[in-house]
Amino acid sequence: MHSPVVVLGGGPGGYAAAFLAADEGLDVAIVEAEPRLGGTCLLRGCIPSKALLHVAKVISEVDSLREEWGVEYNEKPKIDVDKVRARKEKVISNLTGGLGQLAKRRNVTVIQARGTFLNSTTLKLEGDDQSIPEGGELTFDHCILATGSIPAMPAAFDIGSDRVMDSTGALALADIPETMLVVGGGYIGLEMGSVYAHLGTKVTVVELMDGLLPGADRDLVKPLAKRIDKMCEGRVLLNTKVGSIAEDGDKIEVTFEGPAHFGHEKFDRVLVSIGRRPVTRGLGLENTQVVVNDRGFVECDAQQRTADPHIFAIGDVAGDPMLAHKASHEGRVAAEVIAGKPSVFDKAAIPAVVFTDPEIAWAGLTEGEAKAAGRKVDVEVYPWAASGRAQALGITDGLTKWLVDPETHRVLGCGIVGSGAGELIAEAVLAIEMGCEVHDITESVHPHPTLSETLMNAGEVHLGTATEIY
Ligand code: FAD
Repeated sequence: MHSPVVVLGGGPGGYAAAFLAADEGLDVAIVEAEPRLGGTCLLRGCIPSKALLHVAKVISEVDSLREEWGVEYNEKPKIDVDKVRARKEKVISNLTGGLGQLAKRRNVTVIQARGTFLNSTTLKLEGDDQSIPEGGELTFDHCILATGSIPAMPAAFDIGSDRVMDSTGALALADIPETMLVVGGGYIGLEMGSVYAHLGTKVTVVELMDGLLPGADRDLVKPLAKRIDKMCEGRVLLNTKVGSIAEDGDKIEVTFEGPAHFGHEKFDRVLVSIGRRPVTRGLGLENTQVVVNDRGFVECDAQQRTADPHIFAIGDVAGDPMLAHKASHEGRVAAEVIAGKPSVFDKAAIPAVVFTDPEIAWAGLTEGEAKAAGRKVDVEVYPWAASGRAQALGITDGLTKWLVDPETHRVLGCGIVGSGAGELIAEAVLAIEMGCEVHDITESVHPHPTLSETLMNAGEVHLGTATEIY
């Protein structure tokens, strides 16, 4: 069988690339090893985690009502874990079903098979689905490699026990354990830790570095770190290494090495969330001219071209940041380039969101990056304590900040911590992409009273026109 364009992997990078290539009038086939399209994001990543985090948020808001807002509920919330899990599964199946329909409408051929490269223009297809063509080979003019990533699980933690989970195991929500250790204070560990903590698990977080979310600006992390510390009742171990993990009856015994904690402790479950690795091994890439770097990512240029003229790469397999919207955007670029358009991906403002409570979001240049590059920037911060909306909602520990070029007054970056930061950051992405100056934001009328006003107010701080209380 021959298809002019073949996409290997049906995640948010792969299906976006396939649909856009079809919209460009190209004949496209997607090869996906799993029975459903959607990839990590839909099946075991963004969507199920956010469905569960919403349950956690509702529980946390009810707790705030009880503690601070003068509304009494007589009983603690009762969790029906089967119903929580079923709702999450329903969300996934609604979305994956929709993707199947979208593929059909565009005449995109979906083949359920594991694909490996025999050479630069041929994939070998393995599996037992009827969609696999006779002979099990698929030739192409262009292939878009979108095989994504999988959780990293060091050999020392891989002890063959289902009590030691990766993010996929945690999302399965088999039960609500009494105690859980989260290894790694990155966004996946904190999001999943928040879910379990709000469902009733006593969560401990251990992080090798001296703060949670290494890489994010510290002023954004501070309010979250305070909340996580409260959620974990003080069990956040920083600068601490996990020495060993071993099964001991129905518990997992863990040894710690760190200034605050030397010794061992037992947990019902351990979630290992120390990063993800790109899926490049076992794909037969050695039979092509594709170059894989020493971190395992496929090397490609701003048009997503690899060193092999027939093969493009997008999404998690093509490098950081490993985010679904970055994967889809790269898919768009690859599809348009194959269709003969001069598209290029300028990664100026890829937003990043941590969906914890409070949320953290940033886009464009961060303070950490500006400092590392020795670049002078004005940092304009508007504390949410001065926002009428934040006061009304009881979320005054948030902040919004712009990073501004002191000479041109252009906005270069934005950081937000607080409820809904993930939604608010979209305005900043547009502003940075459009090369806005601060006055473009302050002269745009924002609705009152909303948290979006804090973006305007932080701009006013730069101009010296901010009001104290808004
Ligand atoms: P993937 O989604 O990983 O898809 C790759 C696909 O390729 C898979 O379906 C796989 O089966 C298939 N495949 C692999 N090898 C082969 C082969 N040889 N043959 C055929 N098929 C193959 N990102 C966000 O932007 N926002 C979030 O809130 C967010 N939350 C997350 C939460 C969790 C718990 C996790 C784990 C991830 C989260 N991510 C989030 C990251 C996001 O899921 C990934 O960045 C995104 O899925 C990458 O898309 P992709 O298309 O590159 O690869």
